[in-house]
Amino acid sequence: MPDKMLELKKRLAEVDDLASASYLLGWDQQTHMPPGGAEARGRQMATLQRLAHEKFTDDAVGHLLDDLRAEYVDSPYASDEAGLLRVVEREYARATRIPSDFVAEVSSHISATFSAWTTARAANDFAALRPGLEKTLELSRGYADYFPGYAEPIDPHIDNADFGMNAVSIGDIFAQLRAQLVPLVQAIAERPLADDSVLRRRYPEAEQIAFGEAVVRQLGYDFSRGRQDKTFHPFATKFSINDVRITTRVNENFLNEALFGTMHEAGHAMYEQGVAAAYEATPLASGTSAGVHESQSRLWENLVGRSRNFWEHFYAPLQSVFPAQLNDVSLDNFYAAINKVQPSLIRVEADEVTYNLHVMLRFDLERALLNGTLAVADLPDAWNARMQADLGLTPPDDRDGVLQDVHWFGGFIGGAFQGYTLGNVMSAQFFAAAQSAHPPIPDQIRVGSFDTLRGWLTENIYRHGKKFSTDELLRQATGGPLSIAPYMAYLREKYGELYGL
Ligand code: ZN
Repeated sequence: MPDKMLELKKRLAEVDDLASASYLLGWDQQTHMPPGGAEARGRQMATLQRLAHEKFTDDAVGHLLDDLRAEYVDSPYASDEAGLLRVVEREYARATRIPSDFVAEVSSHISATFSAWTTARAANDFAALRPGLEKTLELSRGYADYFPGYAEPIDPHIDNADFGMNAVSIGDIFAQLRAQLVPLVQAIAERPLADDSVLRRRYPEAEQIAFGEAVVRQLGYDFSRGRQDKTFHPFATKFSINDVRITTRVNENFLNEALFGTMHEAGHAMYEQGVAAAYEATPLASGTSAGVHESQSRLWENLVGRSRNFWEHFYAPLQSVFPAQLNDVSLDNFYAAINKVQPSLIRVEADEVTYNLHVMLRFDLERALLNGTLAVADLPDAWNARMQADLGLTPPDDRDGVLQDVHWFGGFIGGAFQGYTLGNVMSAQFFAAAQSAHPPIPDQIRVGSFDTLRGWLTENIYRHGKKFSTDELLRQATGGPLSIAPYMAYLREKYGELYGL
Protein backbone atom coordinates (compact mmCIF):
# COMPACT_ATOMS: atom_id res chain seq x y z
CA MET A 1 0.00 0.00 0.00
CA PRO A 2 1.38 3.45 -0.89
CA ASP A 3 2.93 5.34 2.00
CA LYS A 4 0.48 8.20 1.87
CA MET A 5 -2.52 5.92 2.32
CA LEU A 6 -0.80 4.32 5.30
CA GLU A 7 -0.06 7.77 6.69
CA LEU A 8 -3.72 8.81 6.30
CA LYS A 9 -4.95 5.63 8.01
CA LYS A 10 -2.50 6.14 10.87
CA ARG A 11 -3.84 9.65 11.45
CA LEU A 12 -7.46 8.48 11.16
CA ALA A 13 -6.77 5.74 13.71
CA GLU A 14 -5.48 8.32 16.18
CA VAL A 15 -8.58 10.46 15.65
CA ASP A 16 -10.69 7.35 16.17
CA ASP A 17 -8.78 6.45 19.36
CA LEU A 18 -9.53 9.87 20.86
CA ALA A 19 -13.16 9.77 19.80
CA SER A 20 -13.64 6.19 21.04
CA ALA A 21 -12.10 7.09 24.40
CA SER A 22 -14.67 9.88 24.72
CA TYR A 23 -17.49 7.47 23.77
CA LEU A 24 -16.27 5.08 26.47
CA LEU A 25 -16.44 7.92 29.00
CA GLY A 26 -19.94 8.68 27.72
CA TRP A 27 -20.98 5.02 28.10
CA ASP A 28 -19.66 5.00 31.66
CA GLN A 29 -21.45 8.28 32.41
CA GLN A 30 -24.77 6.74 31.42
CA THR A 31 -24.30 3.35 33.06
CA HIS A 32 -22.02 3.23 36.11
CA MET A 33 -20.68 6.71 36.98
CA PRO A 34 -21.70 8.14 40.36
CA PRO A 35 -23.57 11.48 40.06
CA GLY A 36 -20.63 13.34 41.57
CA GLY A 37 -18.54 12.60 38.50
CA ALA A 38 -20.70 14.64 36.11
CA GLU A 39 -18.77 17.89 36.04
CA ALA A 40 -15.32 16.37 35.54
CA ARG A 41 -16.74 13.92 33.00
CA GLY A 42 -18.17 16.72 30.87
CA ARG A 43 -14.75 18.42 30.81
CA GLN A 44 -12.90 15.18 30.05
CA MET A 45 -15.15 14.31 27.13
CA ALA A 46 -14.94 17.84 25.73
CA THR A 47 -11.13 17.70 25.86
CA LEU A 48 -11.00 14.41 23.98
CA GLN A 49 -13.49 15.61 21.37
CA ARG A 50 -11.55 18.84 20.86
CA LEU A 51 -8.29 16.91 20.41
CA ALA A 52 -9.97 14.55 17.94
CA HIS A 53 -11.40 17.51 15.98
CA GLU A 54 -8.01 19.29 15.93
CA LYS A 55 -6.21 16.17 14.80
CA PHE A 56 -8.74 15.52 12.05
CA THR A 57 -8.82 19.10 10.71
CA ASP A 58 -5.01 19.41 10.65
CA ASP A 59 -3.72 20.83 7.34
CA ALA A 60 -1.61 17.69 6.95
CA VAL A 61 -4.81 15.66 6.49
CA GLY A 62 -5.91 18.08 3.75
CA HIS A 63 -2.58 17.73 1.95
CA LEU A 64 -2.72 13.94 2.18
CA LEU A 65 -6.22 13.99 0.73
CA ASP A 66 -5.07 16.22 -2.17
CA ASP A 67 -2.22 13.82 -3.00
CA LEU A 68 -4.31 10.70 -2.58
CA ARG A 69 -7.13 12.05 -4.75
CA ALA A 70 -4.70 12.19 -7.66
CA GLU A 71 -3.16 8.84 -6.81
CA TYR A 72 -6.49 6.98 -6.62
CA VAL A 73 -8.30 8.80 -9.41
CA ASP A 74 -8.58 5.56 -11.43
CA SER A 75 -9.46 3.16 -8.63
CA PRO A 76 -12.87 1.50 -8.88
CA TYR A 77 -15.73 3.29 -7.15
CA ALA A 78 -16.50 0.25 -4.98
CA SER A 79 -12.90 -0.25 -3.80
CA ASP A 80 -12.21 0.25 -0.11
CA GLU A 81 -9.65 2.97 -0.84
CA ALA A 82 -11.99 4.98 -3.07
CA GLY A 83 -14.75 4.59 -0.47
CA LEU A 84 -12.50 5.73 2.33
CA LEU A 85 -11.36 8.80 0.40
CA ARG A 86 -14.96 9.75 -0.51
CA VAL A 87 -16.10 9.62 3.10
CA VAL A 88 -13.03 11.26 4.62
CA GLU A 89 -13.08 14.10 2.07
CA ARG A 90 -16.72 14.77 2.81
CA GLU A 91 -16.18 14.78 6.57
CA TYR A 92 -12.99 16.83 6.30
CA ALA A 93 -14.72 19.47 4.15
CA ARG A 94 -17.52 19.67 6.69
CA ALA A 95 -15.31 19.77 9.78
CA THR A 96 -12.96 22.45 8.43
CA ARG A 97 -15.80 24.83 7.59
CA ILE A 98 -16.83 25.22 11.20
CA PRO A 99 -14.64 27.54 13.31
CA SER A 100 -13.58 25.98 16.58
CA ASP A 101 -15.03 28.96 18.49
CA PHE A 102 -18.44 28.10 17.09
CA VAL A 103 -18.00 24.44 18.05
CA ALA A 104 -17.11 25.48 21.60
CA GLU A 105 -20.05 27.90 21.83
CA VAL A 106 -22.51 25.24 20.66
CA SER A 107 -21.06 22.64 22.99
CA SER A 108 -21.30 24.79 26.10
CA HIS A 109 -24.78 26.11 25.20
CA ILE A 110 -26.12 22.61 24.52
CA SER A 111 -24.70 21.20 27.72
CA ALA A 112 -26.41 23.99 29.72
CA THR A 113 -29.69 23.53 27.83
CA PHE A 114 -29.64 19.77 28.35
CA SER A 115 -29.15 20.15 32.05
CA ALA A 116 -31.93 22.80 32.23
CA TRP A 117 -34.23 20.45 30.29
CA THR A 118 -33.80 17.61 32.79
CA THR A 119 -35.33 19.77 35.54
CA ALA A 120 -37.70 21.90 33.41
CA ARG A 121 -39.26 18.86 31.79
CA ALA A 122 -40.03 17.36 35.17
CA ALA A 123 -41.44 20.71 36.30
CA ASN A 124 -43.48 21.11 33.07
CA ASP A 125 -41.85 24.51 32.58
CA PHE A 126 -41.51 25.43 28.90
CA ALA A 127 -41.11 29.12 29.76
CA ALA A 128 -37.86 28.38 31.59
CA LEU A 129 -36.44 26.71 28.48
CA ARG A 130 -37.71 29.22 25.92
CA PRO A 131 -34.69 31.59 25.90
CA GLY A 132 -32.29 28.65 25.68
CA LEU A 133 -34.28 27.12 22.84
CA GLU A 134 -34.32 30.45 20.99
CA LYS A 135 -30.53 30.50 21.26
CA THR A 136 -30.36 26.90 20.01
CA LEU A 137 -32.46 27.92 17.00
CA GLU A 138 -30.11 30.82 16.30
CA LEU A 139 -27.08 28.49 16.52
CA SER A 140 -28.79 25.90 14.32
CA ARG A 141 -29.40 28.55 11.66
CA GLY A 142 -25.85 29.80 12.22
CA TYR A 143 -24.53 26.30 11.53
CA ALA A 144 -26.46 26.24 8.24
CA ASP A 145 -24.91 29.60 7.28
CA TYR A 146 -21.50 27.90 7.10
CA PHE A 147 -22.90 25.72 4.31
CA PRO A 148 -24.25 28.00 1.60
CA GLY A 149 -25.72 26.29 -1.41
CA TYR A 150 -28.44 24.35 0.36
CA ALA A 151 -32.05 25.34 -0.34
CA GLU A 152 -33.19 25.42 3.31
CA PRO A 153 -31.42 25.82 6.66
CA ILE A 154 -32.54 22.32 7.71
CA ASP A 155 -30.78 20.73 4.71
CA PRO A 156 -27.18 20.69 6.00
CA HIS A 157 -28.47 19.19 9.26
CA ILE A 158 -30.30 16.48 7.32
CA ASP A 159 -27.25 15.91 5.12
CA ASN A 160 -25.12 15.25 8.22
CA ALA A 161 -27.43 12.50 9.45
CA ASP A 162 -28.88 11.17 6.20
CA PHE A 163 -26.37 12.06 3.52
CA GLY A 164 -27.88 12.78 0.13
CA MET A 165 -31.34 13.71 1.38
CA ASN A 166 -32.96 17.09 1.96
CA ALA A 167 -36.18 18.64 3.22
CA VAL A 168 -37.87 18.35 -0.17
CA SER A 169 -37.02 14.68 -0.76
CA ILE A 170 -38.00 13.74 2.78
CA GLY A 171 -41.14 15.88 2.64
CA ASP A 172 -42.12 13.99 -0.50
CA ILE A 173 -41.65 10.54 1.10
CA PHE A 174 -43.50 11.68 4.22
CA ALA A 175 -46.42 13.04 2.19
CA GLN A 176 -46.79 9.71 0.34
CA LEU A 177 -46.65 7.84 3.61
CA ARG A 178 -49.07 10.12 5.38
CA ALA A 179 -51.67 9.76 2.64
CA GLN A 180 -51.76 6.01 3.30
CA LEU A 181 -51.10 5.90 7.03
CA VAL A 182 -53.87 8.25 8.15
CA PRO A 183 -56.68 6.13 6.63
CA LEU A 184 -55.10 2.99 8.12
CA VAL A 185 -54.99 4.56 11.59
CA GLN A 186 -58.64 5.63 11.17
CA ALA A 187 -59.74 2.17 10.03
CA ILE A 188 -58.03 0.54 13.03
CA ALA A 189 -59.59 3.12 15.38
CA GLU A 190 -63.03 1.88 14.35
CA ARG A 191 -62.21 -1.67 15.45
CA PRO A 192 -62.23 -2.93 19.06
CA LEU A 193 -59.07 -1.99 20.97
CA ALA A 194 -56.62 -4.82 21.65
CA ASP A 195 -56.17 -5.73 25.33
CA ASP A 196 -52.54 -5.46 26.43
CA SER A 197 -53.14 -5.78 30.18
CA VAL A 198 -51.19 -9.06 30.27
CA LEU A 199 -48.03 -7.09 29.49
CA ARG A 200 -48.65 -4.95 32.57
CA ARG A 201 -48.47 -7.75 35.10
CA ARG A 202 -45.40 -7.91 37.33
CA TYR A 203 -42.26 -9.18 35.55
CA PRO A 204 -39.18 -9.29 37.83
CA GLU A 205 -36.10 -7.53 36.48
CA ALA A 206 -33.52 -10.32 36.63
CA GLU A 207 -35.69 -12.69 34.56
CA GLN A 208 -36.48 -9.95 32.03
CA ILE A 209 -32.79 -9.19 31.52
CA ALA A 210 -31.80 -12.86 31.26
CA PHE A 211 -34.55 -13.57 28.72
CA GLY A 212 -33.71 -10.51 26.61
CA GLU A 213 -30.03 -11.48 26.53
CA ALA A 214 -30.85 -15.05 25.53
CA VAL A 215 -33.01 -13.73 22.68
CA VAL A 216 -30.43 -11.33 21.24
CA ARG A 217 -27.67 -13.94 21.57
CA GLN A 218 -29.81 -16.19 19.40
CA LEU A 219 -30.45 -13.35 16.92
CA GLY A 220 -26.67 -13.09 16.54
CA TYR A 221 -25.50 -10.30 18.84
CA ASP A 222 -21.97 -11.39 19.83
CA PHE A 223 -21.42 -11.04 23.60
CA SER A 224 -17.70 -11.85 23.18
CA ARG A 225 -17.54 -8.49 21.36
CA GLY A 226 -20.18 -6.69 23.39
CA ARG A 227 -22.09 -6.51 26.65
CA GLN A 228 -25.34 -5.14 28.03
CA ASP A 229 -25.72 -2.75 30.98
CA LYS A 230 -28.64 -0.87 32.48
CA THR A 231 -29.25 2.82 31.76
CA PHE A 232 -32.03 5.45 31.77
CA HIS A 233 -32.22 6.13 28.03
CA PRO A 234 -31.12 3.01 26.13
CA PHE A 235 -28.50 3.30 23.37
CA ALA A 236 -25.84 1.26 21.57
CA THR A 237 -22.25 2.49 21.36
CA LYS A 238 -19.08 1.35 19.63
CA PHE A 239 -15.44 1.64 20.68
CA SER A 240 -14.22 -0.85 18.09
CA ILE A 241 -15.83 -3.30 15.65
CA ASN A 242 -14.93 -5.83 18.36
CA ASP A 243 -16.50 -3.90 21.24
CA VAL A 244 -20.05 -2.73 20.47
CA ARG A 245 -22.19 -2.39 23.58
CA ILE A 246 -25.90 -2.18 24.25
CA THR A 247 -27.91 -0.82 27.16
CA THR A 248 -31.44 -1.39 28.37
CA ARG A 249 -33.95 -0.19 30.92
CA VAL A 250 -36.37 -2.42 32.76
CA ASN A 251 -39.93 -1.67 33.81
CA GLU A 252 -41.14 -4.46 36.09
CA ASN A 253 -44.73 -3.48 35.36
CA PHE A 254 -44.49 -3.42 31.56
CA LEU A 255 -42.84 -6.24 29.64
CA ASN A 256 -42.29 -4.37 26.34
CA GLU A 257 -39.66 -1.87 27.41
CA ALA A 258 -36.70 -4.14 28.08
CA LEU A 259 -37.76 -6.93 25.71
CA PHE A 260 -38.18 -4.87 22.54
CA GLY A 261 -35.65 -2.25 23.64
CA THR A 262 -32.95 -4.92 23.89
CA MET A 263 -33.78 -6.28 20.43
CA HIS A 264 -33.75 -2.72 19.05
CA GLU A 265 -30.32 -1.86 20.45
CA ALA A 266 -28.94 -5.28 19.47
CA GLY A 267 -30.06 -4.50 15.90
CA HIS A 268 -27.97 -1.32 15.92
CA ALA A 269 -25.06 -3.21 17.48
CA MET A 270 -25.11 -6.21 15.11
CA TYR A 271 -24.83 -3.72 12.23
CA GLU A 272 -21.57 -2.34 13.64
CA GLN A 273 -20.24 -5.73 14.77
CA GLY A 274 -20.75 -6.84 11.16
CA VAL A 275 -18.65 -4.14 9.49
CA ALA A 276 -15.63 -5.50 7.56
CA ALA A 277 -12.61 -5.91 9.87
CA ALA A 278 -10.45 -3.98 7.39
CA TYR A 279 -12.41 -0.78 8.21
CA GLU A 280 -11.46 -0.82 11.91
CA ALA A 281 -10.48 2.62 13.26
CA THR A 282 -11.49 4.46 10.07
CA PRO A 283 -14.62 6.53 9.34
CA LEU A 284 -15.93 3.59 7.28
CA ALA A 285 -16.45 1.58 10.48
CA SER A 286 -19.97 2.79 11.25
CA GLY A 287 -23.46 2.75 9.84
CA THR A 288 -23.96 4.69 6.64
CA SER A 289 -26.74 7.01 7.84
CA ALA A 290 -29.20 7.57 10.67
CA GLY A 291 -31.97 6.08 8.55
CA VAL A 292 -30.12 2.90 7.58
CA HIS A 293 -28.96 2.46 11.17
CA GLU A 294 -32.52 2.74 12.41
CA SER A 295 -33.69 0.34 9.68
CA GLN A 296 -31.49 -2.34 11.25
CA SER A 297 -32.76 -1.79 14.79
CA ARG A 298 -36.37 -1.69 13.60
CA LEU A 299 -35.97 -4.75 11.41
CA TRP A 300 -34.98 -6.90 14.39
CA GLU A 301 -37.32 -5.22 16.86
CA ASN A 302 -40.47 -5.10 14.72
CA LEU A 303 -40.35 -7.13 11.52
CA VAL A 304 -38.73 -10.03 13.36
CA GLY A 305 -39.40 -9.42 17.06
CA ARG A 306 -43.07 -8.44 16.85
CA SER A 307 -43.92 -11.07 14.24
CA ARG A 308 -46.10 -14.05 14.82
CA ASN A 309 -43.43 -16.37 13.38
CA PHE A 310 -40.93 -15.20 15.99
CA TRP A 311 -43.28 -15.86 18.88
CA GLU A 312 -44.24 -19.27 17.61
CA HIS A 313 -40.71 -20.14 18.63
CA PHE A 314 -40.12 -17.87 21.63
CA TYR A 315 -43.50 -17.80 23.37
CA ALA A 316 -43.13 -21.16 25.14
CA PRO A 317 -39.67 -20.21 26.51
CA LEU A 318 -41.09 -16.86 27.66
CA GLN A 319 -43.98 -18.63 29.39
CA SER A 320 -41.54 -20.94 31.13
CA VAL A 321 -39.66 -17.91 32.51
CA PHE A 322 -42.93 -16.22 33.58
CA PRO A 323 -45.41 -19.06 34.20
CA ALA A 324 -47.53 -17.21 36.75
CA GLN A 325 -47.87 -14.20 34.45
CA LEU A 326 -48.41 -15.90 31.08
CA ASN A 327 -49.66 -19.47 31.44
CA ASP A 328 -53.27 -18.28 31.13
CA VAL A 329 -52.47 -16.20 28.02
CA SER A 330 -52.67 -17.74 24.55
CA LEU A 331 -50.12 -17.01 21.84
CA ASP A 332 -52.84 -15.18 19.88
CA ASN A 333 -53.63 -12.90 22.79
CA PHE A 334 -49.97 -12.23 23.50
CA TYR A 335 -49.33 -11.44 19.83
CA ALA A 336 -52.31 -9.05 19.76
CA ALA A 337 -51.12 -7.39 22.96
CA ILE A 338 -47.58 -6.65 21.73
CA ASN A 339 -49.05 -5.20 18.53
CA LYS A 340 -51.79 -3.06 20.06
CA VAL A 341 -52.48 0.08 18.01
CA GLN A 342 -53.71 3.14 19.85
CA PRO A 343 -52.93 6.84 19.30
CA SER A 344 -50.85 8.04 22.23
CA LEU A 345 -48.98 11.12 23.39
CA ILE A 346 -45.43 9.78 23.63
CA ARG A 347 -43.38 8.96 20.52
CA VAL A 348 -41.11 6.36 22.10
CA GLU A 349 -44.10 4.37 23.35
CA ALA A 350 -46.05 4.59 20.09
CA ASP A 351 -47.07 1.50 18.11
CA GLU A 352 -45.77 0.77 14.60
CA VAL A 353 -48.78 2.30 12.83
CA THR A 354 -49.01 5.65 14.63
CA TYR A 355 -45.26 6.10 15.30
CA ASN A 356 -44.47 7.86 12.04
CA LEU A 357 -47.11 10.53 12.62
CA HIS A 358 -45.13 11.59 15.70
CA VAL A 359 -41.99 11.88 13.58
CA MET A 360 -43.69 13.89 10.81
CA LEU A 361 -45.02 16.35 13.36
CA ARG A 362 -41.51 17.00 14.71
CA PHE A 363 -39.98 17.20 11.24
CA ASP A 364 -42.52 19.76 10.02
CA LEU A 365 -42.22 21.87 13.18
CA GLU A 366 -38.43 21.98 13.15
CA ARG A 367 -38.43 22.81 9.44
CA ALA A 368 -40.83 25.70 10.16
CA LEU A 369 -38.70 26.92 13.08
CA LEU A 370 -35.57 26.95 10.93
CA ASN A 371 -37.37 28.62 8.02
CA GLY A 372 -38.62 31.37 10.34
CA THR A 373 -42.30 30.62 9.80
CA LEU A 374 -42.79 29.42 13.38
CA ALA A 375 -41.53 31.21 16.52
CA VAL A 376 -40.24 29.30 19.52
CA ALA A 377 -42.87 31.09 21.64
CA ASP A 378 -45.62 29.52 19.50
CA LEU A 379 -44.10 26.04 19.48
CA PRO A 380 -46.16 24.47 22.32
CA ASP A 381 -49.46 25.58 20.74
CA ALA A 382 -48.34 24.42 17.31
CA TRP A 383 -47.37 21.05 18.81
CA ASN A 384 -50.70 20.61 20.55
CA ALA A 385 -52.74 21.62 17.51
CA ARG A 386 -50.88 19.14 15.32
CA MET A 387 -51.27 16.32 17.89
CA GLN A 388 -55.00 16.96 17.89
CA ALA A 389 -55.19 17.04 14.11
CA ASP A 390 -53.06 13.93 13.53
CA LEU A 391 -53.71 11.71 16.53
CA GLY A 392 -56.89 13.12 18.02
CA LEU A 393 -55.21 13.89 21.32
CA THR A 394 -54.16 17.09 23.06
CA PRO A 395 -51.35 16.72 25.59
CA PRO A 396 -52.50 17.68 29.09
CA ASP A 397 -49.22 19.55 29.61
CA ASP A 398 -45.93 20.35 27.85
CA ARG A 399 -44.12 17.57 29.68
CA ASP A 400 -46.04 15.04 27.58
CA GLY A 401 -46.02 17.44 24.63
CA VAL A 402 -43.23 19.59 23.30
CA LEU A 403 -40.82 18.80 26.16
CA GLN A 404 -40.90 15.01 25.81
CA ASP A 405 -37.91 14.42 23.51
CA VAL A 406 -34.33 15.28 24.38
CA HIS A 407 -33.34 16.08 20.76
CA TRP A 408 -34.04 19.84 20.57
CA PHE A 409 -32.64 20.31 24.08
CA GLY A 410 -29.53 18.16 23.65
CA GLY A 411 -28.39 19.19 20.18
CA PHE A 412 -29.21 21.31 17.13
CA ILE A 413 -32.76 21.82 15.94
CA GLY A 414 -32.95 19.90 12.67
CA GLY A 415 -31.83 16.57 11.27
CA ALA A 416 -32.42 14.34 14.27
CA PHE A 417 -35.93 12.98 13.62
CA GLN A 418 -36.37 12.06 9.95
CA GLY A 419 -34.08 9.03 10.33
CA TYR A 420 -36.61 7.25 12.54
CA THR A 421 -39.25 7.15 9.84
CA LEU A 422 -36.77 6.58 7.02
CA GLY A 423 -35.56 3.63 9.12
CA ASN A 424 -39.06 2.19 9.44
CA VAL A 425 -39.62 2.49 5.70
CA MET A 426 -36.25 0.95 4.81
CA SER A 427 -36.57 -1.86 7.36
CA ALA A 428 -39.46 -3.31 5.35
CA GLN A 429 -37.71 -2.72 2.03
CA PHE A 430 -34.58 -4.59 3.19
CA PHE A 431 -36.61 -7.36 4.84
CA ALA A 432 -38.66 -7.91 1.67
CA ALA A 433 -35.45 -8.13 -0.38
CA ALA A 434 -33.92 -10.63 2.05
CA GLN A 435 -37.06 -12.77 1.90
CA SER A 436 -37.22 -12.72 -1.85
CA ALA A 437 -33.56 -13.77 -2.02
CA HIS A 438 -34.19 -16.48 0.59
CA PRO A 439 -37.83 -17.62 0.70
CA PRO A 440 -37.25 -19.98 3.70
CA ILE A 441 -36.51 -17.05 6.04
CA PRO A 442 -40.03 -16.93 7.60
CA ASP A 443 -39.94 -20.69 8.28
CA GLN A 444 -36.48 -20.33 9.79
CA ILE A 445 -37.67 -17.54 12.09
CA ARG A 446 -40.51 -19.83 13.19
CA VAL A 447 -37.91 -22.31 14.51
CA GLY A 448 -35.62 -19.67 16.02
CA SER A 449 -32.97 -19.71 13.29
CA PHE A 450 -31.71 -16.33 12.09
CA ASP A 451 -28.46 -17.18 10.31
CA THR A 452 -29.78 -16.78 6.77
CA LEU A 453 -31.37 -13.41 7.49
CA ARG A 454 -28.34 -12.13 9.39
CA GLY A 455 -26.08 -13.46 6.64
CA TRP A 456 -28.03 -11.53 3.99
CA LEU A 457 -27.89 -8.36 6.08
CA THR A 458 -24.15 -8.80 6.65
CA GLU A 459 -23.48 -9.38 2.98
CA ASN A 460 -25.67 -6.53 1.70
CA ILE A 461 -25.51 -3.93 4.48
CA TYR A 462 -23.36 -4.56 7.56
CA ARG A 463 -19.98 -5.33 5.99
CA HIS A 464 -20.02 -2.19 3.83
CA GLY A 465 -20.06 0.12 6.85
CA LYS A 466 -20.16 3.68 5.56
CA LYS A 467 -18.62 2.95 2.16
CA PHE A 468 -21.83 3.41 0.17
CA SER A 469 -24.53 6.05 0.54
CA THR A 470 -28.06 5.15 1.60
CA ASP A 471 -29.28 5.35 -1.99
CA GLU A 472 -26.42 3.19 -3.29
CA LEU A 473 -26.99 0.60 -0.59
CA LEU A 474 -30.73 0.47 -1.27
CA ARG A 475 -30.26 0.04 -5.00
CA GLN A 476 -27.60 -2.66 -4.57
CA ALA A 477 -29.47 -4.57 -1.89
CA THR A 478 -33.08 -4.18 -2.99
CA GLY A 479 -32.80 -3.35 -6.69
CA GLY A 480 -34.38 0.09 -6.43
CA PRO A 481 -34.49 3.47 -4.67
CA LEU A 482 -36.26 4.19 -1.42
CA SER A 483 -39.90 3.12 -1.64
CA ILE A 484 -42.76 3.14 0.83
CA ALA A 485 -44.50 0.23 -0.93
CA PRO A 486 -42.93 -2.67 1.03
CA TYR A 487 -43.53 -0.87 4.32
CA MET A 488 -47.18 -0.11 3.62
CA ALA A 489 -47.71 -3.67 2.34
CA TYR A 490 -46.20 -4.98 5.57
CA LEU A 491 -48.40 -2.77 7.79
CA ARG A 492 -51.55 -3.53 5.77
CA GLU A 493 -51.04 -7.26 5.86
CA LYS A 494 -50.07 -7.50 9.52
CA TYR A 495 -52.57 -5.04 10.98
CA GLY A 496 -55.28 -5.94 8.47
CA GLU A 497 -55.19 -9.46 9.88
CA LEU A 498 -54.89 -8.34 13.51
CA TYR A 499 -57.76 -5.88 13.28
CA GLY A 500 -59.91 -7.69 10.73
CA LEU A 501 -59.82 -4.88 8.16
ZN1 ZN B 1 -32.63 3.30 17.32
